[in-house]
Amino acid sequence: MPSAKAWERVMQLEPGWRVQLRKPHPCGNDWWEVVRIGADLRLRCLKCGRRVVLPRRRVAQRLKHALPPGEAGGTSG
Ligand SMILES: [Zn+2]
Repeated sequence: MPSAKAWERVMQLEPGWRVQLRKPHPCGNDWWEVVRIGADLRLRCLKCGRRVVLPRRRVAQRLKHALPPGEAGGTSG
């Protein structure tokens, strides 16, 4: 089971957040944008645009960093 802290971070996620996961996508990227929130989280790979659906528990286990919209840095906004 993920730690309480990991759960807290996953529960605060909303669409537009960016998350870095421990397990990178096959394209080599490990940053994702949160697209939709529900029992499962829908994520979009920030490099190749591919979408995946992961259970909250899985995301909590893999979560490294979470950035709210506007704090992701870079020039793309
Ligand atoms: Zn990808």
